[in-house]
Amino acid sequence: MVSKPGPVQIVTVCKEEHSFALDTEALARVLLAPEVRDKNVVVLSVAGAFRKGKSFLLDFMLRYMYRKGDDNWLGEDDEPLTGFSWRGGSEPETTGIQLWSEVFLIQKSDGTEVAVLLMDTQGAFDNQSTVKDCATIFALSTMTSSIQLFTEYGRLAMDEIFQKPFQSLMFLIRDWSFPYEYSYGFKGGNEFLDKRLQVNETQHEELQTVRDHIHSCFSNISCFLLPHPGLKVATSPVFEGQLNAVAPEFKEELRSLIPKLLHPDRLCEKEINGNKVTCRGLLEFFKAYIKIYQG
Ligand code: GDP
Ligand code: MG
Repeated sequence: MVSKPGPVQIVTVCKEEHSFALDTEALARVLLAPEVRDKNVVVLSVAGAFRKGKSFLLDFMLRYMYRKGDDNWLGEDDEPLTGFSWRGGSEPETTGIQLWSEVFLIQKSDGTEVAVLLMDTQGAFDNQSTVKDCATIFALSTMTSSIQLFTEYGRLAMDEIFQKPFQSLMFLIRDWSFPYEYSYGFKGGNEFLDKRLQVNETQHEELQTVRDHIHSCFSNISCFLLPHPGLKVATSPVFEGQLNAVAPEFKEELRSLIPKLLHPDRLCEKEINGNKVTCRGLLEFFKAYIKIYQG
């Protein structure tokens, strides 16, 4: 069966019961596709609360994946953005984890081929009772991903980071409005991050612990500062993602961020206990992890 690629909901939070459901069959359809099942997997997960622009960003990553080599991969000026649906409004928002149904095979410069999975991870920060659900969803995505992007608007919230070991963590700060203090992109981002991660005596003890943990748990931490995308993107109800409504500086930073993020040699393979994991192996880990959280 060949169907059009699209988002697949693999983990759903049942709000009433505070339980999690893994759609094992859907996950197996993605991970056991014959071309990918025995390849080492790279799981790039974008995590954050509702309406932090995760789908918007993922859709540009998809464009890059499908149009690599094309100088104009970012798209035509009047082309609506498609992929992980991001238009707010009509559809109910689902808390949980979605995967793009198509796994991308990418060749690294050493000749090895890896399977790249794009993951959209959404938590609800709406009320107290969902805080634990949200923590669980992020912990799950953290444990199953090798690269995690955490999207946040204009600040860096340490208390939303969970203490599980993984390979690469990138903070993506949206709507950055102080480029004169820290410039857009990785350079300013990493300087800003270093400053924020410095532990000093005057901080609250808990915050210090979080910072120490971040350093001990992640082998690679970085930060990217993205400018505001423009008022049409942020507020227009009829906006469909057309580039002509997106602020030029935002487009420029996207052109810089996405090829770096998805550069074959930057795509680190998922490791568990120091061993690389295949797509097939990831399916088993998912099944095991969901059991832990269901208990
Ligand atoms: P998601 O719920 O995290 O997937 O968020 P969406 O991608 O659906 O975007 C939610 C809304 O935020 C949409 O109206 C987007 O046009 C808008 N948006 C996307 N990126 C940004 C950004 O960097 N800054 C601001 N202010 N809005 C954004
Ligand atoms: Mg979304």
